Amino acid sequence: MRLSQMLFVTLREDPKEAEIPSHKLLVRAGYIRRIGSGIYAYLPLMWRVLQKVSQIVREEMNATGAQECLLPQVQPAELWRESGRWDTYTKAEGIMFSLTDRRKRELALGPTHEEVITTIAKDMIRSHQQLPIHLYQIQTKFRDEIRPRFGLMRGREFIMKDGYSFHSDEESLKKTYRDMDQAYRNMLSRCGLQYRAVEADSGAIGGSGSQEFMVLAEAGEDEVLYTEDGKYAANTEKAVSLPVDAEISSFTEYKKLETPDTTTIATLANLLKCSPTQIVKNVLYQVAYDNGTTVLVLISIRGDQEVNEVKLQNELTKLAPEFGAKTILSLTVPDQEAQEKWATKPLPLGYISPGLPDYYISNPWDKGGIHDGKFVRIVDQTASELKNFVTGADDSGYHVVGANWGKEFTLPKRIVDIRKAQKGDRAVHDPNQILHSARGIEVGHIFQLGIKYSQAMGATFTNEQGEELPLVMGCYGVGVSRLAQSAVEQSYDKDGIIWPVAIAPYQVIIAIPNITDVQQVEIAEKLYTELKQAGIETLLDDRNERAGVKFKDADLIGIPYRIVTGRSIKSGKVELVERATRNSQEIAIEDVVSTLKHNIQAALEN
Ligand code: ATP
Ligand code: MG
Repeated sequence: MRLSQMLFVTLREDPKEAEIPSHKLLVRAGYIRRIGSGIYAYLPLMWRVLQKVSQIVREEMNATGAQECLLPQVQPAELWRESGRWDTYTKAEGIMFSLTDRRKRELALGPTHEEVITTIAKDMIRSHQQLPIHLYQIQTKFRDEIRPRFGLMRGREFIMKDGYSFHSDEESLKKTYRDMDQAYRNMLSRCGLQYRAVEADSGAIGGSGSQEFMVLAEAGEDEVLYTEDGKYAANTEKAVSLPVDAEISSFTEYKKLETPDTTTIATLANLLKCSPTQIVKNVLYQVAYDNGTTVLVLISIRGDQEVNEVKLQNELTKLAPEFGAKTILSLTVPDQEAQEKWATKPLPLGYISPGLPDYYISNPWDKGGIHDGKFVRIVDQTASELKNFVTGADDSGYHVVGANWGKEFTLPKRIVDIRKAQKGDRAVHDPNQILHSARGIEVGHIFQLGIKYSQAMGATFTNEQGEELPLVMGCYGVGVSRLAQSAVEQSYDKDGIIWPVAIAPYQVIIAIPNITDVQQVEIAEKLYTELKQAGIETLLDDRNERAGVKFKDADLIGIPYRIVTGRSIKSGKVELVERATRNSQEIAIEDVVSTLKHNIQAALEN
């Protein structure tokens, strides 16, 4: 391709809306343009990158026996009602764009395709003889993200590879899941990325395994905890660990103490000269369930620990049937305004005890009131084991010390693990191993779904014994556009992008320093033709620009190899510069094609 014929516009300044390097660079280098919040145009250079990523994904998927298809993006609401996800997706999470057509039928723009594929399976799969089967597609997805940001990293319209497998039993599912694990590793290695596969949260579905693939980068939105022995790695949302031991409390006598200005654990520990591990901290959450029930949850957790809201959400979803509900619409820390709706008087915030009386809750049975007029009390494992602990006195400015479960406070019957694992904790598999933390960008997620969708939607098959059973399912996603940008996040320098050879939009750029020099042009044209004939993807910078501008642009757009037809052509040579290392060498004109062929091949095999 000739640069003179391309829509090629680079910017010298960083775009205002961009916060992270990869976003700034992709905009500056003319790969993408923002059209609206979380909505981007993929310009020709970007589209080539995306097609290369897609092709690698496609090859690795096909190698496992999965088959490509293309499902509709517009999806009827009935399918989502059948699976029970319409309300969660349109209201609770609100992540799905929905619309009503001219005949007043409700539709949605696909954020994911479990419903569509399960409908197809229900219609077409009858017998175990048709199983296992695995279909995938590469397609634009729509999600009305709360905080679209970082360019293609979190868009409202983005490209995903999503695959769905169907099995007659768990064992068959596990085999495909393992194949996918390997396929995903191959994809990421081939794309030239450094990544880590980690245990992931599977939501409230429970039981089944799930794994995320994280591209390691400081700008990543996810935190990964791992051990150096390589035996444990998990998303913080999911991670488990052994907390540090609690210090033995010196408060052997139960007392109420005046503790002014101690609404935080730090100030309280400081005043009482005790360790945060001896304190029981109490945090209030408000949960709205899908049947209109509101529940107030009082969590008691050790002072040095934090609540993991993903684990909490899973726990509360499990409890939903107790409140006659199916799912959670929202989980929040009630602010002043929310408290005013149900509190009989101001809460002793910062001084709450695990025994905060239920009489703080008004009008239990009123419409919109709080379930049962009682707090749902949950204690984290760490806090349940404390003796002679310090906690709030339900009286502003006061705490109690030397308290015990079973004496001053009733131990809640719900004792669960809802603490956030943190770096520095000891690992469960080997307490000598310490958890370390890294930041990552989630580019892929593989998931053993089980029978959640097939059961809800009645997608069954007949097994060898003639029994009718729900299909066992797996699903597997790769964020193609996010992956492409994460490659930039992992590989750039002050001058621009450094694409891995496998996904660079072009492999080589030929820069003609002076287009009024007939010989320079002639040699560049000849090399351009030869390289193209050799199957090497080549850009020819034939613009009427200064050499400096061309070199800057070539660095910015990150093409792996640059050929310069400069002064050395007099001695039959051109300059070859490698973008990643900046190594420069002069090579004979007749060796250009073979040298580049060799270098590119070597880079692709790495
Ligand atoms: P996240 O936690 O980042 O929102 P997710 O758990 O919602 O991701 P999945 O539903 O598993 O993601 O989607 C599969 C893949 O699609 C993700 O691993 C990610 O790479 C990509 N992806 C998800 N949401 C977006 C988005 N808004 N923009 C770009 N890529 C996305
Ligand atoms: Mg998401």
